[in-house]
Parts: sequence; structure tokens; C-alpha cells
Amino acid sequence: MDKFIVSARKYRPQTFDTVVGQSHITTTLKNAIRNHQLAHAFLFCGPRGVGKTTCARILAKTINCEHPTKEGEACNKCNSCKSFNEGTSLNYFELDAASNNSVDDIRELVNQVRFVPQSGQYKVYVIDEVHMLTSNAFNAFLKTLEEPPPYAIFILATTEKHKIIPTILSRCQIFDFKRITIDDTVEHLKAICSKEDITADDPSLHVIAQKSEGCMRDALSILDKIVSFTNGQLNYSNTLEHLNILDDDYYFKLMDYILQQDLAAALLLYDEINRKGFDGELVLIGFAEFIRNLLVSKDEKVAGLLEVVESFKEKYIKTAKNASAAVLVSALNILNQAELNYKVSRNKRLLVELTLIKLCYLQQAIELTSEGGGITKKKVVETPLAFRIAAIKPFNKKEENKLAKTKSRTSDAKLIVDTTTGKKNKPEKSLVTEELPSYPQPQSNSTTNPANSRLVALDKLRDQFRNNGDNSNDKMNHPLQAEQLQMAWTDYIQILKDAKNPAVPSFERSILRVKDAESFEVVSNNNLEQKFIEKERNKLFSFLKHQLHNNLLRFNVIVSDNPSEQITGEVPLTISQQFQKMAEQYPLLKELKDRLGLELDY
Ligand SMILES: [Zn+2]
Repeated sequence: MDKFIVSARKYRPQTFDTVVGQSHITTTLKNAIRNHQLAHAFLFCGPRGVGKTTCARILAKTINCEHPTKEGEACNKCNSCKSFNEGTSLNYFELDAASNNSVDDIRELVNQVRFVPQSGQYKVYVIDEVHMLTSNAFNAFLKTLEEPPPYAIFILATTEKHKIIPTILSRCQIFDFKRITIDDTVEHLKAICSKEDITADDPSLHVIAQKSEGCMRDALSILDKIVSFTNGQLNYSNTLEHLNILDDDYYFKLMDYILQQDLAAALLLYDEINRKGFDGELVLIGFAEFIRNLLVSKDEKVAGLLEVVESFKEKYIKTAKNASAAVLVSALNILNQAELNYKVSRNKRLLVELTLIKLCYLQQAIELTSEGGGITKKKVVETPLAFRIAAIKPFNKKEENKLAKTKSRTSDAKLIVDTTTGKKNKPEKSLVTEELPSYPQPQSNSTTNPANSRLVALDKLRDQFRNNGDNSNDKMNHPLQAEQLQMAWTDYIQILKDAKNPAVPSFERSILRVKDAESFEVVSNNNLEQKFIEKERNKLFSFLKHQLHNNLLRFNVIVSDNPSEQITGEVPLTISQQFQKMAEQYPLLKELKDRLGLELDY
């Protein structure tokens, strides 16, 4: 199996045409040679193992060839070409700047440049890893690079272009080498396999190409190793085994369990993977990559970025359809965090298992917090509850007048207040018999003295608070009032409490702001509370519309700009607090209570 060990060298391209995946560079170079427009200094940039040195060698050979072909390639037959192919040419110098980066090394090279080539046209100097040169070495080199003798050609190669100083960059013709694509690598490997009588299926070569990350040298050395390991019989599973790569099938299974929220199965699967000798970090990274591929497969436009074994593509696209983007992105986030924590974690297995637990409950968490999901799930609007409680109109003067204008059924109310004079008449009849119209009816006839309006006993007020909801279902658009709203809100909280609804604290802690006659804002403390309230929106909405007799009602739930602000004390009010508040606003109420010696009904 000796022959395989050298396939990287054995199959090193000998002409520009056989360089894999860099046609944009080889074509330009060929044209430049043909048209005798060769620059004197080149900078080859790009990742390792993509063909920089190979291209430099081919360039050196081609420009020294005695009988170049019409296409601008070296003939590989003349003496010069032979000496290049044997590595004995005197016109080719390679300096590895990684290990020879001192001023002396460069001076030596510069001295050599002065000698005219013994045979052939050009002397080619390749400085590999040129970014490693010290700045003094750079400076020593600059002069030669600026005014080289006509027979000298410099090819600087680097993996880190950004480290090259501008004075060098400006003197070089720059070529950017690309990473070799997986498809190109697979094709190249296939060609070698057929020449070497190696049996290898497509998926195995694909895995090798993927693992080599665009570096042909790595791909070839991996191929060599696996060939000797499997006696030239490569297949998907022995390739995975050799490369210590976890089969994608495991990730598909894991994803299924996560989507089904089957934690037990996920943990058992991880245990199985672990027993096979794959450590947690590999699983975290591999699974993150898998999810990235799922995200990519979600959109057909970017599905081209999917670099997976061809036979798996269908499966990726199918799985991607089952998982929401929200789940995938969040999962990616969780995995990324776990990967960061992995190195410092003391109990690595626990870390991975915790991550799996999080992933399994991810879907649930997202459903809980997503307002959209919450609402669509509860499309069935429950029939409105029989509301026990209705809001009351505030008793400011305007309202009192309005009240007075309404059809009076309250002629026998006990207490009559003359609002024009502020005098109070003594109660004339017994309390209690009276009922206020639940709401002023704008269209109703006014029969009472507009100067007088009535206040009823406190328990009457209470009744009105409590027993009013059943009447006005007709189309009405009463302008929104803060007090009514607040009371309706409090009532709704009570309904939530009765139903043991977890949204209660969110409702209790938020503030209501009336914006205009039809709309108000609910100011919540944070996103979570906002979502809890939003989740109730449908029911809350019909409740409030009904309670406030306002069909045009609208509201927004927003998050407070100032979360540090203590939003408490506004809601909910106890009965005595309610009274106190009302009394503050309408002092007559308190007087009424005091004069009649009434007590609040707790
Ligand atoms: Zn030749």
C-alpha cells in the first residue's frame, strides 16, 4: 500500500489545467505567459492546501519551458521541464519564511538574485508564508522587490494577506486562491480512485471532502489513510468510523426526539453515542452543524449552500419542514452556549444532558411565550360569562347632569343633592327602593329636573358596581373612562383568579392608560407579562367591550419604558381602597356615608 501514502505528491498537478478549483487564477496566468505580460512579483493568498505552491511551481516551469504548448502550458518533455519535475532545477528557489524569517536569510536570497540564470530564461523565487518575515527582513527585501533584475520573478505566498504590509502589497500582482469546493474535491478524489483501483462510494468521498474543508492536501492524505486502513475498499460507514464522524442518522433521530419532546429517548440516544466513543463536544458541534443545515434547507433559495451527502438532502429538507425556524434558531443558540461552556465545565456529560433537556423543552417554551401561537390555539371564543360586575359612571358634574337627564325612575331616592347650590336636602323616604339606570341612555327622554341629580345609597352604588352587566348589549359607544376601565380590569382579574389563571400577577402589576375615547394602553413591566396579557386578549377584549359598552374599544399591550419604576399601588384595590379613591374624587360620597352612618360591605 506504499503507493497510496504519496498520492498528494503523486497527483500534484503538473500543468495549469490540472489544478483543481482555481481556474480563475490558472487562466489569468496562462494568458499572461502567452502575451508576455508577466509581472515580476506575485502575491498568492489563500487558505492552506489549495494549490498556491503548486501554481508557483507550474508557473516557474512553464516560463522556463523550451517548447511551451499553444495553450501556454509546459511541455513536460524538454530538459528544463524534466529538471523541474525532478526537483533539480537551478532556476527555482523556495524559502519557507516560517522558519527562515531573519534579515540574514533574506540577504542571502537577495545575493542569489544577482546571478544571471545559467540556463533557461527566468529564476523564480518563492517565499512561502511571507507574512512571517520580520519587519527588518521585509525592509531588506523591499529594494529588490522594487527593482528586480529582468530574469527574476518573485512569488510570495501567504495564508494571511492582512498581515502583509502595504508597501509589499502595492508591488505585487495579487491572486486570491479559493477554498476548493466539496464537489471539486470529490471529482478529484474520484479520478484518483479510478486510477488507483480503489473502490469508494460517493458518500464516503463526500465525507472526506467535507472533513478536509477545502484543503486538497488534507483530502488526499485522508484518502491515503483510509485506503490503507480499509484495504482500498471505502464505504460510508468505515469512512465515518475512521474520521471519527458521527453518522447524520443519529442527528436525525435526535432531532425527531426533540421535536416529539421525548426526553428519555434523547438521553438514551446520547448514551448510545457516548458508548461508541464520541465525546460530548463532538456531539454538540455536530448537532449544531446539523441544525444549521436544517435551517439552510428551509429555504429553497439557499438550499444550494447545503453541503451534505447527496442522498441525505431529501431527508434534510423533509425534517426542516417539521421544525419551526424559531425552534431551530433557539436550538442553535443553546448548542452554541453549551459548546462555549464545554471546556470549562467540570461535569461535561451533565452539561450535554442538560443541553438535551433544554432542547427537548424548547418547543414548549416557545409555544408558551409566543403570543401568536397562544392566540391561534384559543380560537374558540368562550361564550361571554354572565358578568356580575359593571362599571359606573363617575359622578362629576357633567355626568351628574347627564344622569339627571335620563329617564328617572328614582323619584323616591332618599337623598337629593342640589348641584346648583350645593345644598343637600334631607332624605325624604326610606333608602334602598331605588334603582339607577345602569347607564345613561342618551336617546332617552329627560323628564326630571336637570338641576338635580341623585346619589343613591352606598350599597346601591355597590349594586351598580356588581350587578349591572346583563343589560346593555346593544350597540353603544360610551367614551372610555379611566375609572370604569380600572374597575372592569379589576373584575377581569377576579375572573382570572377564579379560573386559577397564571396571568393574574401580570394583570395586577400592569398600569392602564386611557389614550382617547376608544383606546387605551396596558403598560406591563416586561415582555413576559406582556405576553401573558396578550394571551388573554380575545377574552379580555369581549369582556371589556361588554363591560364598558364600547364597541370601538381598542387596546395595546406595551412594555414599560422604565422597568425600575414601581408599578404597584394602582391595582388591585380592596373594597375600602376603592371607596377611598372614589371619596377622594367625589367628596360628597364620604359625606353621604358619614351622615348616614353607613358602613362598607366587605
Ligand atoms: Zn518544456
